Amino acid sequence: MPLNEILSVYPLAFVVIALVVGLLVGSFLNVVIWRLPKMLEREWRQQALELLGLPTETPLPTYNLMLPHSQCPHCGHRIRAWENIPLISYVFLRGRCSSCATPISKRYPLTELACGLLSAFIAWHFGFGWPACLVLVLSWGLLAMSLIDAEHQLLPDVLVLPLIWLGLIVNSFELFVPLQDALWGAIAGYMALWSVFWLFKLITGKDGMGYGDFKLLAMFGAWGGWQVLPLTILLSSLVGALIGVILLRLRNAKTSTPIPFGPYLAIAGWIALLWGGQITDFYWQFVGLK
Ligand SMILES: [Zn+2]
Repeated sequence: MPLNEILSVYPLAFVVIALVVGLLVGSFLNVVIWRLPKMLEREWRQQALELLGLPTETPLPTYNLMLPHSQCPHCGHRIRAWENIPLISYVFLRGRCSSCATPISKRYPLTELACGLLSAFIAWHFGFGWPACLVLVLSWGLLAMSLIDAEHQLLPDVLVLPLIWLGLIVNSFELFVPLQDALWGAIAGYMALWSVFWLFKLITGKDGMGYGDFKLLAMFGAWGGWQVLPLTILLSSLVGALIGVILLRLRNAKTSTPIPFGPYLAIAGWIALLWGGQITDFYWQFVGLK
């Protein structure tokens, strides 16, 4: 029996494979989350120096997603292949560098675990097929973007723009919604937050969110059509307000502290994409209009 038949006949096999692949991808996402903002910052710095006519810092040592090889930030010990197995290595090394015993940040195994569980869940939710595989790619991108945004208040174009295109391409085959809904979803998604941004800026003179947020909502429009936008905005405001208040209390921060909106938008959009229909049906039944 060919592999794709096995996976459709035995859904559990697909879930297990998705879990393992998800753990491996999570390990790669750790690299992306750590290095991509640094790579972009370096690039922007070089461009700024060039623009100002100042001497650029050449030659810069190679720094990309593959090179230099991963090493312990404390002692420089090069991470060997067996120390790089998702989760297992962390447990085996008891969360410490094998050379200098400095504790390894828990964020690495947690990102791997989150990515593995998320992937297994998607495999279970959709079953084997194109929708599952494409939502996996989307979710990996969202996970990377959310964690980068949470730390740096930055939603890299290099992640969000390809996902807008992918959504439109996927829906040109009507995989989730008709292409027309996807196209208008992308446009309306961008315009909705763009309008809020400018309204807020005109009234208060402050920047309420970043351009990355407009693109992120455009991306959800491209994948789920304009239909997912109202619920995404509503849910992200609810989640954002709730977590925002908790964070402000916890950190005792001022209200002017910037809170990245991207992660809330990502969570809300993802929920709207998977269960949007059921949630709105439930709502209309709840208010007695259906
Ligand atoms: Zn070390």
